[in-house]
Amino acid sequence: MDVRTKIEWLEQAAQYDACLEAGEPMPAALPPRVPDLRDSIAQLSANGRKAPILKILQTSACEKNCYYCPFRAGRNFRRETLSPDELAASFDQMQRAGLVQGLFLSSGIIGAVRSMDRMLQTVELIRLKYGFRGYIHLKMLPAAEEAQIERAVHLADRVSTNLEAPTAQHLSRLAPMKTFEESLVEPLKRARRLIQQTQGNSGQQVARSGMVTQFVVGPAGESDRDLLGASQRLYREVGLHRAYYSAFSPVRNTPLEGAPATPPRREFRLYQSDFLLRAYGFRVEELPFDGEGNLPLDQDPKTLWAQEHPERFPLEINRAAPQDLVRVPGIGPQTMRNILRARLDGKLSDLGQLKKLGVDVAQAAPYVLLNGRAAPVQMRLGFAWEALHLSPSNPRQPAHSA
Ligand code: SF4
Repeated sequence: MDVRTKIEWLEQAAQYDACLEAGEPMPAALPPRVPDLRDSIAQLSANGRKAPILKILQTSACEKNCYYCPFRAGRNFRRETLSPDELAASFDQMQRAGLVQGLFLSSGIIGAVRSMDRMLQTVELIRLKYGFRGYIHLKMLPAAEEAQIERAVHLADRVSTNLEAPTAQHLSRLAPMKTFEESLVEPLKRARRLIQQTQGNSGQQVARSGMVTQFVVGPAGESDRDLLGASQRLYREVGLHRAYYSAFSPVRNTPLEGAPATPPRREFRLYQSDFLLRAYGFRVEELPFDGEGNLPLDQDPKTLWAQEHPERFPLEINRAAPQDLVRVPGIGPQTMRNILRARLDGKLSDLGQLKKLGVDVAQAAPYVLLNGRAAPVQMRLGFAWEALHLSPSNPRQPAHSA
């Protein structure tokens, strides 16, 4: 098979690889299409910028048997492998032609150390032989060696290891050949140490876009509390940049082919809640889980939290502390900063001013006071609950049963 056909196949295969970041947002518009290379291009958003990224596997061969994965050992599936020279040269051509601006490289595993070496060789060629200085995200394979992790954080802008599940027990239901702490958490911890050491010793910026991980949501029977608890732990202990949540979708001829697909809305609620942890100062224990540790699917978690805490509202916009402002539904970190700046120029006294600052006033109005006065459209919280047919004592339960 020629190299171009292999590139196209392994790029398409990468879209189904749970080792890749299926949860990363894909922009709507594709770059101008070039017929013979167009299928080799995936896009994702890196550092908030939309850029065409080649998302590809070094090989689709794998010796592991993860229950959810189309590449698992023994499954009848076309296997292709690119040598480091083939992949690096092809990427260089595509990059020079303006088709891609970055690389996201993962791989199946045929000997973890050997497979990781091939990926590192590829990236070294791209950086050193072809002189590419743009964005590279490199997967660290489970059980990668210390020296390989060190090389990875020096070569790549972002590194990742997918935990897949929030605990060792859950992982055993998904990927029995992987060990949770030793082969998945440990590489992230080592990468963190190496990044800190390098930056401390030389001031050199390495892996400047940080580390990320991904969870497969649903088939291990984990709760949302389990998943977000694992993420919170990683944010605190290894300085994880962010976690991705990928709603499970069954693959034919795998042990989990009969398991139900996870509703996309669950994935969405997890992303909303994760954002509350990273940017709003929430702790997992505060999130509005139901009795089984899951987030209600029908309402966003921040609004639910606010409804469950009437003692915190209404909040005076002109005096509230930043950490309280950001907890008002309809106010995010940026609009909170806008409000703080605007307060320096004088009192905020109407919803029109808040709207100009980026506040979602329809959401925020019931929860705020403006210069001591309730907003004109504001309902008292008790009335708001009634309007929503919710009970103040338990806002997720209907107030009356028919
Ligand atoms: S390690 Fe598991 S998830 Fe990754 S490619 Fe192999 S079988 Fe798939």
